[in-house]
Amino acid sequence: MDQRKFVYDFEEGSKEMKTILGGKGAGLAEMTKIGLPVPPGFTISTEMCPEYLKVGDIPETLRNEIREHLARLEGKLGKKFGSAQNPLLVSVRSGAAVSMPGMMDTILNLGLNIETVEGLATLTGNPRFAWDSYRRFTQMYGNVVLGIEHNDFETILAEQKQLQGVTLDTDLSIDSLKALVQKYFALVQEKTGKPFPQDPMEQLLGAVGAVFRSWNTERAITYRKIEKIDGLIGTAVTVQSMVFGNMGSDSSTGVCFTRDNSTGAKHFSGEYLVNAQGEDVVAGIRTPKNIDEMETEMPETYRRLVEVSLLLEKHYRDMQDMEFTVERGKLFMLQTRNAKRSPVAAVKVAVDMVVEGLLTKEEAVMRVTPTQLDTLLHPQVDPQAKVQVIATAIPASPGAGYGKVIFESKKAAELGEAGEKVILVRQDTSPEDIDGISKAQATLTTRGGASAHAALVARGLGKPCVVGADQIKLNSAEKNFVANGVCVHEGDVITVNGTTGEVILGQAPMVDVEQTAELATLLGYADGIRRLGVRANADTPANAHKARAFGAEGIGLCRTERMFNDPERLPLMQELVIAGSLEERTPALEKLLPMQREDFEKILEAMDGFPVIIRLLDPPLHEFLPQMDRLTGEMAEAETAHDEARIAYLQKVMKRYNELKEFNPMIGFRGCRVGIVYPDIYQLQVRAIAEATAALVKRGLHPMPEIMLPLVGHVNEIKVLKPLVQEELDKVFKREGIKVAVKIGTMVEVPRACLTADEIAEYADFFSFGTNDLTQTTYAYSRDDAAGTFLPAYLESKILDVDPFQTIDRKGVGKLIRIAVVLGRQTNPGIEIGICGEQGGEADSIDFCHTSGLDYVSCSAPRVPIARLAAAQAVIKNRPAAS
Ligand code: PEP
Ligand code: MG
Repeated sequence: MDQRKFVYDFEEGSKEMKTILGGKGAGLAEMTKIGLPVPPGFTISTEMCPEYLKVGDIPETLRNEIREHLARLEGKLGKKFGSAQNPLLVSVRSGAAVSMPGMMDTILNLGLNIETVEGLATLTGNPRFAWDSYRRFTQMYGNVVLGIEHNDFETILAEQKQLQGVTLDTDLSIDSLKALVQKYFALVQEKTGKPFPQDPMEQLLGAVGAVFRSWNTERAITYRKIEKIDGLIGTAVTVQSMVFGNMGSDSSTGVCFTRDNSTGAKHFSGEYLVNAQGEDVVAGIRTPKNIDEMETEMPETYRRLVEVSLLLEKHYRDMQDMEFTVERGKLFMLQTRNAKRSPVAAVKVAVDMVVEGLLTKEEAVMRVTPTQLDTLLHPQVDPQAKVQVIATAIPASPGAGYGKVIFESKKAAELGEAGEKVILVRQDTSPEDIDGISKAQATLTTRGGASAHAALVARGLGKPCVVGADQIKLNSAEKNFVANGVCVHEGDVITVNGTTGEVILGQAPMVDVEQTAELATLLGYADGIRRLGVRANADTPANAHKARAFGAEGIGLCRTERMFNDPERLPLMQELVIAGSLEERTPALEKLLPMQREDFEKILEAMDGFPVIIRLLDPPLHEFLPQMDRLTGEMAEAETAHDEARIAYLQKVMKRYNELKEFNPMIGFRGCRVGIVYPDIYQLQVRAIAEATAALVKRGLHPMPEIMLPLVGHVNEIKVLKPLVQEELDKVFKREGIKVAVKIGTMVEVPRACLTADEIAEYADFFSFGTNDLTQTTYAYSRDDAAGTFLPAYLESKILDVDPFQTIDRKGVGKLIRIAVVLGRQTNPGIEIGICGEQGGEADSIDFCHTSGLDYVSCSAPRVPIARLAAAQAVIKNRPAAS
């Protein structure tokens, strides 16, 4: 017989037991332990979930364990399950170790049947309440456990209201409620071929099974995928004695937060509904009241609630999200968990808690995820811009997004997936809408409050969201909505500003966000912890300034080829490429020199006192020529016009194009190979760098250029190029009468460079891993072709767990990097080693760079704050545990 324990009374658990009790079960146990008012109950372990899902039934051993705990519960409360005189009623709720709000199922009022409902009526002296509870229970159970469409029940409910001539649920008479229950029974009989279960134990076992099954519903699976929740075995099931928030005007139910979960302000916030059950608040169907109103409406209870909340925040040392019910003036806590919060709030709460002495700086740094920072730094609506606001409602999740209006979640998800910018507009959202919310730029609902499902999910995902826009009239059938006289059709563009709650017609102008004081403080903590340096990839003076503002400590990659793409310079570059000889190339080079010099001067100036790694020309030369089809078109025009000079020129370009054309440009005539065959190009670039440096030194500045050779794979390449670079530097510096030590190093982006890093390091002052190319060359995947062809299929079918162009493939590419680090330092212990591929701004890759002993990471300017945070987190995560 199975001797394992699967069921725990609340008194037997604690907050440390999240893995088996789930977040909800562990929270209830902890609150019970510290003496807070929690209705008693028990939790069935997550370990039972996979067993149930395997066999599809509840094993006899578990049934017995449930019976034992139920008997204890009856003893505690002096009530009996199924008793007509004093019935015990319970709620059955889900809860995994990581919270998944609204994703799994809940059943309330379980234990009611045609006899106990009468008992409840007599006991409470409130038959209306008893029958309303029973009506809700049959509906919920019929839907969740028996799988009957929610709509089928809603139709019957609407008919009954019409029959009685009322519009509100709360106006239904006892007779109507009784009639409804009978009609629901008939529906169940019709749909399932069986009567609605009357035996409370059968009801309970059915509900427990349904909660376990809800672990694998599409919405729950999607949620786990989006939130990258991996490695959980399933949900726990919590069975808790019911308390009622719908017992009249002295009863209520609500959710509250110890701080504002949108802004992070230290302000007790939340919402509640008088005379209602918990699901009414979360479902977003009735718009609840702001919790501030409770202070005047129920002052005594409000005071107690605030007191309990503060105690819980202190106890958990984190912002709490709580559910409560007030039954006839008495407060009960139904849940507490670490609150989901917007990225803005995450930063503010972490920093405030350090100031309040609740957290250490290290703990604060671990409280904000790199993804949250990423969202936080996304652009916002320009506050100076003139925009047409068509509605203003509750700002439920900050940030702004624009896109085409779409009314169906599935369609929004499909279009969003295909790269379109869409805004999901709905009356309210339910857990099924998660895919749409996550793929849309923002979500707008016309009903619900800040605790409504859409708000909760959007905040968790860091997506902008506005809810409760009741000025908007939705005509779903006609696919449009009217807001303050403006009719917006499906496909029209709107902007949703989740920071202010504004809905704007058209695409509003956006601006980059300023770093808040709290963010600067948090990043300051991170800087004090991290070992890795953080530099930026920047090719323009503007980007260099931006990078400094984000805290970059230098430039890790300045791609010089991008400087040739501007319309003034491209023709000169083309002239250079077309030229057949050095003599022909020189005039173009001479003209390009001052332009390059000016760029370098500005970039070095912006980064004064910090290193700037300038990479000499990398792409194949033919990339600068026009495409062949354009050349052919131009040739046809020139021939028609009999423009002989133009024809001769185009012939020359075409000839050169054909000479340079390659079957595999990615592994062709590019990188240092170009510099070796056409040394004058590299000489020009080095001269421009040296002259810019000299000019700045003369102005009293401290430029620190470093020169990087791309795509080196053989020591002989650097052996040839290094003296060439050094000579050019010396020439200029001598002429200008200055002395600056300029490091000369290589990119490491082909496997052979990694495997012979000891040889190369003898000549290189630094290595910079070009992990874009190193991934291409290690996998033999063309970066430009893979994304549009097989890579999505590889990721979908899990051949690859992650996209190696986004996150370093530790086992392959990473192994080569580690080999190169070890070999490089063998022959050149002082060599400076960094990374400048895209992965340099991604948290997991940064962790890898930290543990591999790199000196710095370099990434695009907006990712610099993320890298600073991730580098600090890497230190904390990888610190050996104290023994
Ligand atoms: C790289 O290959 O990682 C790199 C930074 O160079 P590029 O992306 O310019 O090829
Ligand atoms: Mg490269």
